[in-house]
Amino acid sequence: MTDSPDTDGIDGALRAALTDFAALPVVVAASDFDGCVAPLVDDPAQSAPDPRSMAALTALAQAPDTTAALISGRARGVLSELSGARPPLVLVGSHGAEFESGFDDALTPEKTALLNQLVAELQAISARRPGTLVETKPASTTLHVRNASEADGEAALAEALAGPAAREGVQVTHGKAVIELAVIETSKGRALDVLRRSAQAQAVLYLGDDVTDEKAFAHLRGPAAGGRDIGIKVGPGETAADFRVPDTNAVAAVLELLAGLR
Ligand SMILES: [Mg+2]
Repeated sequence: MTDSPDTDGIDGALRAALTDFAALPVVVAASDFDGCVAPLVDDPAQSAPDPRSMAALTALAQAPDTTAALISGRARGVLSELSGARPPLVLVGSHGAEFESGFDDALTPEKTALLNQLVAELQAISARRPGTLVETKPASTTLHVRNASEADGEAALAEALAGPAAREGVQVTHGKAVIELAVIETSKGRALDVLRRSAQAQAVLYLGDDVTDEKAFAHLRGPAAGGRDIGIKVGPGETAADFRVPDTNAVAAVLELLAGLR
């Protein structure tokens, strides 16, 4: 077997692992949204999923003994709108903290007050740095610097880190040209644990492209840890995942292969 990538971006080792995974009785197949199912775009509001990936995820969700899920940093309502996903495809928003049943960590009045303060502080930073943007979500707020100059972007992130991010009770998550400040504990890894438990699955597959997805990969147990989970990093960069694919087209190929096998 060679490890040279196939035309669809799936190498021999990953293809073999996917075949073994698909043969297990009960599995969870989950993916991040932006940069995996949906190509990255300059305006996050214009993000649109690859129809091939959505069709494959929908087929997986309908397959017997198979849970399919999208786990995103976005608010769950926004994820639902952008993806167009319908049950039984599971949607988890806010970096794994926001399920259909709501947040798994309560939003107290104190936390809401803290969130309002963080939003005001990020907005003040953003107002001084052209091209930056503040997004608010039910339990977090995000400073986006993707469309700012390098100097403004770096300065804005540094100000956010030194100011609001340093407040007590704030959970900080770094992504690609973003910093997110949450007032509840968020982890895509914890979301995978919840899905694994409720499905009583023998194995979990997860696709992710960003720094936040490393928390998910860290919760997986691949062959080296005596498990049968599959972590797939999408694109370049350091990762704890056992496998890698180049881009969103390859994500579609992985999901289609899996849907065909289930
Ligand atoms: Mg992503």
